[in-house]
Amino acid sequence: MTRDAAPSNDLDHLWMPFTANRAFKADPLLLASASEMHFATPQGRRILDGTAGLWCVNAGHARAPIARAIAAQLETLDYAPGFQIGHPQAFAAARAVAQVMPARLDRIFFTNSGSEAVDTALKIALAYHRARGQGQRTRFIGRERGYHGVGFGGISVGGIPANRAAFTGALLPAIDHLPHTHVPDEQRFSVGQPGWGAHLADALEALVTLHGDTIAAVIVEPVAGSAGVLVPPEGYLERLREITARHGILLIFDEVITGFGRLGAATASAHFGITPDLITLAKGISNGTVPAGAVAVRRDIHDTVVDDAPPGIELFHGYTYSGHPIAAAAIQATLAIYRDEDLFARAADLAPLFAQAVHGLRQAAHVVDVRNLGLMAGIELAPRPGAPGARGREVMRACFEAGVLVRVTGDIIALSPPLIIGEDQIHTLTRVLRTALDGVA
Ligand code: PLP
Repeated sequence: MTRDAAPSNDLDHLWMPFTANRAFKADPLLLASASEMHFATPQGRRILDGTAGLWCVNAGHARAPIARAIAAQLETLDYAPGFQIGHPQAFAAARAVAQVMPARLDRIFFTNSGSEAVDTALKIALAYHRARGQGQRTRFIGRERGYHGVGFGGISVGGIPANRAAFTGALLPAIDHLPHTHVPDEQRFSVGQPGWGAHLADALEALVTLHGDTIAAVIVEPVAGSAGVLVPPEGYLERLREITARHGILLIFDEVITGFGRLGAATASAHFGITPDLITLAKGISNGTVPAGAVAVRRDIHDTVVDDAPPGIELFHGYTYSGHPIAAAAIQATLAIYRDEDLFARAADLAPLFAQAVHGLRQAAHVVDVRNLGLMAGIELAPRPGAPGARGREVMRACFEAGVLVRVTGDIIALSPPLIIGEDQIHTLTRVLRTALDGVA
């Protein structure tokens, strides 16, 4: 078995994010370059990208128009302050993002990441309620197994225990969680949305009874990504929308993964035909090239905060790099590729074949569930007794050795290829995965 060794022996200085640092540095996996559907290792071995990097490279790697836009912007205006003064690219990028958001969600606040987008959305929700005389609404409702990045707001509403464990003493004080929607006994091997589970949204009614009119917002991923691709049951999101609207609670869809084509539409909101009040975005917004994120806000929420405020700054919030010229250029070039190549429709067209390919793994070794929607899929393995996560890690490594990148969380394999993937490459993904599954104990 060949290992792609690090070109330098000194890996010590980098404290890697969300990584088992000691294990990694004992046996590193490195990527050195990328083009379209492939990465290459430092030794030049090609790796088919089954994950769009970290769910972000939706248009494929090293796209020339994005690189050109970034280079041109860097030479024209490398940086300009975004507080109290503007530059044209930020306004143009906001317009471009607004054009692909659901109608009325056309006020755009830029951030540099999904985590910042989430914390920004939570703050906008508080500011909105305060501005309309509902300042008692300070509570947020997240969901078990939800992932909303790593800011204190995001981990507070998030529902992945490991991400909170070390920080529990300092989480936001007024938080509650809905139950997650994944109930394998009722949903195992569902193709697309499970038919069972809409009633799980009714737990929100119980929380409203408990907390009265103190709830500011509910935040959910329309399809939970990081927790292992948990697809919402039919009718579930509709019910959340109905309950939140009835009780004056804002609904935030965290579309950091589902935004920009993953489900075959610009947003999950468009895919499901359900319009939340705010949408958080990142990742595919710049095709992964430049750190960027955004919150799309319903126009009247923006107007309530901005128009009704006394003269001066209306929202005391923002980042040095909000609407950074380079990010703004990358966003516009990225959205132009999505539009010109009709990539969201391409994802929708490929989705049935992708579904068939991933569900073909149903009989593969160790597989206990397969779930999918659009171009995302989760393949859940039985954990090895006494060693949860070990099987998943070994499968990921075996795929990498065989030239395919898959993502693993615990014993769940996630697939989310760039939207430019070819049909034969979809079959390569699942064929390599099947062989890897057969090869692990
Ligand atoms: N929200 C969701 C749904 C995500 O999947 C992620 C990242 O995976 C985030 C927020 C955080 O984004 P970032 O890592 O850019 O801060």
